[in-house]
Amino acid sequence: MASPAIDNGDKSDSAKKKKKVTETPKNANQESMMKSKEPVSEEVEEEEEELSRRILVRIEADVLNCSSCYEALFPPIYQCPNSHVMCSLCFVKHTGKCPSCSEINRLTQCLALERIIESMEISCSNAGCDETVSYLYRASHQESCIYAQCFCPFCSFQGCMTSLAQHVADIHKRSAAKFSYESSFQTFVYIQDFSLFISPDNRLFLLLINRDVAGGTGLSVISICPTAEDFEFTYDLSVDNNGTYFKMTSGGEMIRQWTCVHPKTFLFVPDVVCHPRKIFVCVTIRKSNRHT
Ligand SMILES: [Zn+2]
Ligand SMILES: [Zn+2]
Ligand SMILES: [Zn+2]
Ligand SMILES: [Zn+2]
Repeated sequence: MASPAIDNGDKSDSAKKKKKVTETPKNANQESMMKSKEPVSEEVEEEEEELSRRILVRIEADVLNCSSCYEALFPPIYQCPNSHVMCSLCFVKHTGKCPSCSEINRLTQCLALERIIESMEISCSNAGCDETVSYLYRASHQESCIYAQCFCPFCSFQGCMTSLAQHVADIHKRSAAKFSYESSFQTFVYIQDFSLFISPDNRLFLLLINRDVAGGTGLSVISICPTAEDFEFTYDLSVDNNGTYFKMTSGGEMIRQWTCVHPKTFLFVPDVVCHPRKIFVCVTIRKSNRHT
């Protein structure tokens, strides 16, 4: 069976790339001439064969949505005799009754549509990304893609990680400082809700200051960046006030938009030791690869 691919139509580069997929030599001679010029490895041949079995199609995206909740369909998919397709959540929620026509009998798993969806590929919808990914995993790719949209914590700007770092460095430069991984630096907490730091690889880091903690201040670090598979970070925070020392090491969260929610793990600095608007914090941020 041929494997359809979906193009969302807004990526000229990827469209070109995919167009190549459907291009075949005009005749067999032409093909053998091409082959004779350069020895083709087995791998390339296999890849070419794989590509030649694919077709490129464009369809209305909502064809692949559940007829009840209108969310994208993923296997297992169910179907009633009147051709209404539904996701497994709706199937369970309506206890096996078709939510569109109330048919209670003969609801079956729609294996044909499952097979189509499993074989589909789709272009990443993040501007700048020309990757084509499995339809089933597009959401996780789009979340971790380095072109995923990240949001400025100061204003309504949004853009990929690199353009957000550039935006912050240009527009909010007074409130943003650059730092190097592994090197400790000091920062002063006064009235702000967070302090912002830009890493050499264009990730934003926020030192969050939580004043809703009973009896003191909660300090933690998050990064505004996509949850890339090959990136993690840890951080050390320490506060030294006339010999009273508080220190914490923690793994940090990565989010694309900070919504004023503070992490559950934080360094607690009691008000009786440090005035909540006069805290010198020493910060060290280390990046680590998840797979090493
Ligand atoms: Zn549904
Ligand atoms: Zn129905
Ligand atoms: Zn992408
Ligand atoms: Zn901004």
